[in-house]
Amino acid sequence: MRIILLGPPGSGKGTQAQRLVQRYGIVQLSTGEMLRAAVAAGTPVGLKAKEIMASGGLVPDDIVVGIISDRIDQPDAKNGFILDGFPRTVPQAEALDELLKHKHMKLDAVIELRVNESALLSRVETRVAQMRERGEEVRVDDTPEVLTRRLASYRSQTEPLIHYYSERRKLSTIDGMMAIDEVTRAIHRQLLALGAVEPKTHARSAAKAAPAKKGAKKAKVAKKPAKTAKKAAKSAKSAKKAVKGAKKAAKKVAKKSVKKAAKTAVKKGAKKAAKKVTKKRAKR
Ligand code: AMP
Repeated sequence: MRIILLGPPGSGKGTQAQRLVQRYGIVQLSTGEMLRAAVAAGTPVGLKAKEIMASGGLVPDDIVVGIISDRIDQPDAKNGFILDGFPRTVPQAEALDELLKHKHMKLDAVIELRVNESALLSRVETRVAQMRERGEEVRVDDTPEVLTRRLASYRSQTEPLIHYYSERRKLSTIDGMMAIDEVTRAIHRQLLALGAVEPKTHARSAAKAAPAKKGAKKAKVAKKPAKTAKKAAKSAKSAKKAVKGAKKAAKKVAKKSVKKAAKTAVKKGAKKAAKKVTKKRAKR
């Protein structure tokens, strides 16, 4: 399953993405997280992104597209992924389309979490307070001023994606103002309706569920060819039998017609001979 989560900062994308990861055993590809890791590690990408991120601006498209392209190729993304924070602009969405086409991959859905903007600020403030309470490091861009800039950037650069994916019939909008569990349920229902997930997928730890499921699937897949081979062998046998039968029948028919022909010939010959004898007798 490959999906995109769209929504302004503070809309709950990260929380919902983590739940989807747990439930479906797919990976979350968050460009924000990857860029923050690059900044922390001091890589060339990190050095380029650092200032831009701190001010709430957008990192250049070629950098984020490159990061995502490499990440999608990693083995853990084979099972599927959730894009969180990417694409953020129409050119990024176009680049993603190209990239997926090139990799022969299809996007299942784009889930938009629609939220009331006035609630976002208080949500982010709550998040920051909770992080501080847990003694976690608070993001440098989680301040009211930077959030206002990030929101403005979302409106002008990312919101056009709603139209982009709606035109391509990929967009599903969900009310992000509901309780977290409600939003999760609504996303699941939507994925079910789109056929992106199987109805039996229950909420459980992917770490526990995935191996058993995978094994079962593999067994099924492995059984299939064996069954198909058996079937093929069976039909080959019956085809051989049919050919044999047809040959026998043909031989029988041929024998019968030879006999009949011979009989007719004999009969005809006898008749002719009898006629000759009668003629001779008559002459006499
Ligand atoms: P996020 O964690 O998604 O809010 O992203 C944090 C910051 O990383 C953003 O404010 C941007 O500066 C940068 N960033 C993340 N994703 C992208 C992207 N797709 N395009 C450009 N910049 C991004």
